[in-house]
Amino acid sequence: MAKPTIAELRASCRGQVVTRDDSDYAEARKVYNGMIDRHPQVVIRAVDAADVMAAIGYARGNELDLSVRGGAHSVPGFGTNDGGVVLDLARMKGIRVDPAGRSVRAEGGCTWGDFFHATYPFGLATTGGIISTTGIGGLTLGGGIGHLTRGRGLSIDNLLSADVVTADGRFLQASARENDDLFWALRGGGGNFGVVTSFEYRLHPVKDVFVGLFFYEVAAARQILEFYRAYIATAPEEMGAFFAFQIAPPLPFIPEKRHGETFALIVACWAGPLERGEEALQPFRKAGPIAAELVTPMPFPALNSAFDALLPPGLQHYWKASFAAEISDGAIAAHVAHGPKVPVVNSTVHIYPINGAAARVQSDATAFAYRDARFATVIAGMWPEAADNAKNIKWVKDYYAAIRPHSAAGGYVNFMADDDQDRIRDNYKGNYERLVAIKKKYDPGNLFHMNQNIRPT
Ligand SMILES: Cc1cc2nc3c(=O)[nH]c(=O)nc-3n(C[C@H](O)[C@H](O)[C@H](O)COP(=O)(O)OP(=O)(O)OC[C@H]3O[C@@H](n4cnc5c(N)ncnc54)[C@H](O)[C@@H]3O)c2cc1C
Repeated sequence: MAKPTIAELRASCRGQVVTRDDSDYAEARKVYNGMIDRHPQVVIRAVDAADVMAAIGYARGNELDLSVRGGAHSVPGFGTNDGGVVLDLARMKGIRVDPAGRSVRAEGGCTWGDFFHATYPFGLATTGGIISTTGIGGLTLGGGIGHLTRGRGLSIDNLLSADVVTADGRFLQASARENDDLFWALRGGGGNFGVVTSFEYRLHPVKDVFVGLFFYEVAAARQILEFYRAYIATAPEEMGAFFAFQIAPPLPFIPEKRHGETFALIVACWAGPLERGEEALQPFRKAGPIAAELVTPMPFPALNSAFDALLPPGLQHYWKASFAAEISDGAIAAHVAHGPKVPVVNSTVHIYPINGAAARVQSDATAFAYRDARFATVIAGMWPEAADNAKNIKWVKDYYAAIRPHSAAGGYVNFMADDDQDRIRDNYKGNYERLVAIKKKYDPGNLFHMNQNIRPT
């Protein structure tokens, strides 16, 4: 069969087809991680499912690598490649909220900023990422951890259905009623099974939230971690609160002379009744010595975009991830040894709670296997200058080596680096074989391999 040409691809797409000869090429080939510098043959800026089908047909027909991207936040840079095809969904931003049915259908190019902007006026939200520029696509398919996880589960626990174009170019709907094996695999299995053109989620009544940012003296980090471990085990599920090490940015509520110092930070989001917010945040005030705090109600989308300025596109990224059933004393010692050495204001370590609603789902109910983990830790190295890569990567690796003995074998696929492919089986534990079988059924040729790859063999 004749291989499809670029001219044929252009003729069959409504969106933009960008090659090296186009003035947009330099912009179109970029992803969020500035460390990734790749030159695909073509970038297809799709606008609908038909474009997605055309892109898949072109990549398959020419036997080229295919990268799929939405928000382009993949730290390993799976959203681009050298010499292959990039399917960029960022122009597919349609969102339709069904307020009566408390659900929403959002296209694969939406970011969480787009999403919460659309659901906020209805006083509704679901679990999504903590940064507004992250795509709903990659984040949801890997699991989806955010401020609402403890009360509302992971993003995938709120996924009702997905429209998917598979490797053979078919358009399928996946839900509990149709193609339920595909639906199971999409919920945690990443981009391995097809291109999701739209996601349908359950929504919950969340509008304004009561937020607490507590910057504790870093010398008290051990005490704060011990407090956090005990507190979050039994905290009301309306409370999303994660622990971090963070250099103080120049924010008005932090005394100027303390800008640039490192702190132990708790970011708390109370998504229960606002009038109970002050009271709900009181335990954090008693946890240890506070150098600065911000305690205030705010619209949920405002919290979602509050940290965006720290994380502009183009930073260098190198991350490591682990799950843990408990923050052991050994883990605390490792955190206290490495966290305070966080090298730059953009870098951080987050320990997210994934207990509560997320933990009530059975480990084999979705592809996301670590329902027995209570914490998902990410060591997120993010810094501006490529010249500083060695130093910053070393910090991430040393830190990770120190917490690894105190962690589970697997980690959250969305927080992993490109050198973590050997951990795929561990990430999925008892669900791995079933994922391989579903991969064989829907993508036997492994067209979708630019990801934390589940091989069909
Ligand atoms: C600044 C920052 C903040 C983050 N915060 C969080 C957080 O709060 N919670 C959390 O859980 N994770 C978080 N992450 C991790 C995030 O979940 C992953 O980076 C995720 O891959 C990003 O999704 P994306 O659509 O933006 O990325 P992309 O690079 O566009 O996509 C990543 C991969 O997902 C797959 N994919 C994406 N969209 C589709 C689709 N529609 N159909 C099929 N496959 C698709 C592809 O394999 C693609 O290569 C964060 C990452 C960054 C960089």
